[in-house]
Order: sequence, then C-alpha cells, then structure tokens
Amino acid sequence: MPLAEEYFKAGKIASEVRERVKKSINIGSKLIDIAEAVEQSVVSRGAQPAFPCNICLNSVAAHYTPQINDDLKVREGDVVKVDFGVHINGYIVDTAFTLSFNVKYDAMVRAVEVMLQEALKVIKADVKAGEVGRAVQTAAQRLGFKPIVNLSGHAIAPYAVHAGLSIPNTYTAGTPSLKLGQVYAIEPFATTQKGAGVVVNGPSTNIFSLVARKPLGDSSLNLFADELWSRFRTLPFTYRQIRDLGDAAWLEHAVKTLIQKRVLRGYPMLVEARSEFVAQAEHTVTPVENGVVVLTE
Ligand code: MN
Ligand code: MN
Repeated sequence: MPLAEEYFKAGKIASEVRERVKKSINIGSKLIDIAEAVEQSVVSRGAQPAFPCNICLNSVAAHYTPQINDDLKVREGDVVKVDFGVHINGYIVDTAFTLSFNVKYDAMVRAVEVMLQEALKVIKADVKAGEVGRAVQTAAQRLGFKPIVNLSGHAIAPYAVHAGLSIPNTYTAGTPSLKLGQVYAIEPFATTQKGAGVVVNGPSTNIFSLVARKPLGDSSLNLFADELWSRFRTLPFTYRQIRDLGDAAWLEHAVKTLIQKRVLRGYPMLVEARSEFVAQAEHTVTPVENGVVVLTE
C-alpha cells in the first residue's frame, strides 16, 4: 500500500520549518521563543506539532521542552539540539538538528550528521535494524565519538511517535527488519570519548502523554482527561499547551494524580551519564526496494 499522502506533506513542512529555524538561532535566543516559533510555523503551514518542540542544551540529550517562564537562552559555548515533530491527521514525521556555538564541539556536530547519512545509506526494505546501528556505530568510531547506546530510532505509526520497533545506534544481533510501506525515525546521538555513551534520567519531567482512559472518580479530573484526549490523543504534550485548563498549581496536581493512576506517563529529561555534551541528528524515512525515501529531507 502506498504511504499516506499526509506523510509527504508533513515531511515537506518539517523540512521547511527546520531550515528556517536553523538560521534564526543565535547567541541570546530564548529557548521558549525558538520552541514557539517552531510550533507556530508548523501550524501556519496547515499541520500540527506531533509533540512539544524539544530544545536540549549541552549534556541534556532529550526530553526537555522550554516552559512558559523559561529563562534559558543560547549562550556562547552551548551545543543546541532542536527536535520537533509534525503531524497531519495523525501521520507523524520527526526531525532534529544540532547547532554548535562552541568550536570544541563543531566536529561532533558534523560527525552526527555523517552518522545519520551513513545510516540512511544502508536502509532499504528488509534491512535488519541492527545493521543500521552498525553503520551508525562504525561512523561514530571512525570519527572519534561514541554513539549513545540507550537512545534509538523508532518505528512511527498513526498517532504514535514511538511504535514498537527500535533502531539502535550500535550493532545489535537478532533485530527485526525494516519493512516496505512503514515509517521510521533514524536518530543517531553522539558524545565525546570521555562520555559514558549512555543517558540517565535528569532532575525534571515536563513532557507527558495519555496511556489509558478510565473514570477517575473526580469530575474535574475526568473533564481534564477528556480534554487531553481531544487535543492530543496519545501524542506528547507539555504544560504550556494546556495553560488554559487551569492555574499552574492545579495543572501540576492534576498531572501528578493522572500519572499515579497510570492514565498519563511522563518522559523525564535525559542527560549524558558523565555530563558530556551530546549532539543529535534525525530524519524520518520510509524504505523502498533499493534504498530509502527521506520524508524530512
Ligand atoms: Mn525527534
Ligand atoms: Mn524520534
């Protein structure tokens, strides 16, 4: 079956937004302004954010999205990762890039782009996910960096950013293969030789998604969960996207309660285990008989 037309439209939008935003980021840019510019550009092109724009600095690898009163700015010496998703009717693409404002890390940022390109070169229908990992790992080693072993690419399905299959960033035996007509995000992460090559949970969680629907024994919580479902389905969200649903204290209480009841899950921020800097690159692709179509190229 041919891929839904929405995937191609979402991919083109993601690509345009990525290239535009890349040029707009400078020392002094506020992270919240970058994130809102990404999300608004997606909406203005007729699509929706598939998750809140993640902007991770330095040793933060993933799962940080700026908050309403976030003071964080890009500073001299920073390595800035911007990771965002676009969906049309639930058909999702996912893309990311890294900018270096630190000469010490320019080579690592270039390396992760090469790691991504090497991964794309081996992808075609029925290639094992572990072979993609091998390409990423080999490129990382050749260029003098470590891949992050516990972050991976992933299959994408309608309304599901992470849909089962993982595409590792190191060679892994016994993995399933990538299938014709399926959509995958390929996302190598690199750190320095001093790094552990592993991420661990950081101090905060500000991204959540619905994982179940059930009566909560409290009408305001039931309404809250209904509203989350109607806005996001199973896609991730953050506080600034629901600020109209209650004051900050109530929202925090409601989110905490829904996590305890296993209706929501949280995605803690992920940091490099030895606090070394991390770079990331990501495209969404679909394998074909003799190669790959890069939807977010
Ligand atoms: Mn991503
Ligand atoms: Mn991804």
